[in-house]
Amino acid sequence: MADLTLDNVTKVFTDDDGSDIVAVDNVSIDIDDGEFLVLVGPSGCGKSTTLRMVAGLETITSGDIQLGDTSLTGKDPQDRDIAMVFQSYALYPHMTVRTNMSFGLQESTDLPDDEIDTRVEETAEMMGIGDLLDRKPGELSGGQQQRVALGRAIVRDPEVFLMDEPLSNLDAKLRSSMRTELQRLQEDLGVTTIYVTHDQTEAMTMADKIAILNDGKLQQVGTPLECYHEPANLFVAGFIGEPSMNFFDVERVGEKLVHDNFEYELSDETANAVAEANELVLGIRPEDIELRTEVEGVHDFETTVDVIEPMGDENNVYLTFDGASDDETFVANISGMQHVESGQPIVAHIPEVAIHVFERRSGNALR
Ligand code: ATP
Repeated sequence: MADLTLDNVTKVFTDDDGSDIVAVDNVSIDIDDGEFLVLVGPSGCGKSTTLRMVAGLETITSGDIQLGDTSLTGKDPQDRDIAMVFQSYALYPHMTVRTNMSFGLQESTDLPDDEIDTRVEETAEMMGIGDLLDRKPGELSGGQQQRVALGRAIVRDPEVFLMDEPLSNLDAKLRSSMRTELQRLQEDLGVTTIYVTHDQTEAMTMADKIAILNDGKLQQVGTPLECYHEPANLFVAGFIGEPSMNFFDVERVGEKLVHDNFEYELSDETANAVAEANELVLGIRPEDIELRTEVEGVHDFETTVDVIEPMGDENNVYLTFDGASDDETFVANISGMQHVESGQPIVAHIPEVAIHVFERRSGNALR
């Protein structure tokens, strides 16, 4: 068992007219032995390319990838002790489940056949597909195929699992139960894992550590809660959390953050954190906004309920500032028990402990 290290890894593709596409830009990540790292980011940010470089399916333009003390650069995929699970499952349609699971072992090891059989049967039992071993992939449901694909990776007993959106072809309910199952499995097996997804909920719920990519560049690496509570920049703040954080363009004037529709008073502590900067963004998560009937303090603002999005146990309440010069709305996420109506005047409390402040130009978090 060993740590996996991505050290200033860059991948540049050249497109048809000869211009460079920097798909992965100087990315460094340390993944501890046995850790579950989720690589997350929007479409095209470089997640799959990163994973494929670790697997050896794509060459590295510069940088290095190490497993323990050994560099993987230049090693063939089959010599890396890494098993990959693809979104498409990539099962061989003409082979039975048993052969799909044993094929890789037969090709890449000199284990005796009876030991391979035992391993396949044990893994199939563990994955709940023991009675499907003689079927072909076409005779299985999506969820069953997904288990075969995972089983095929597990049976190889690799140092590292790489998973590229392995649950995205499943329906929502199955996806959510497979999430928990996969997490438990990974924990039991203790195999270092990189899991790629564009779904921030999947990232938040499954990861020991999240690495957030945008446009080929690493934005932040941290635990899900670190990324949620202390986003490094505007991108992470907007990407993690559902509904997304509310952002307001503000200017620092004296001890206040001044927006077109409101003024937000700062304590000395917060004011010090944003001392030098003028062009700022104030961020507040929808779940940190409280709705009150009356103004009680300086961080309470008179608003009107625009639209309500009922979610069952909670509501997303879209609000507009009273007397606003535009129709800018922001959203509060409140308990479903709190009754509000469209058009109703209401006071939005934006607690100072929960605000985030970013520098507008760089996007970097100041607080
Ligand atoms: P998705 O979530 O849509 O799968 P991704 O985050 O996995 O996206 P990549 O597939 O890694 O993103 O692609 C990153 C960038 O590299 C994209 O701009 C993509 O168009 C480009 N790219 C990927 N593979 C190649 C290739 N073989 N040749 C040229 N450009 C490529």
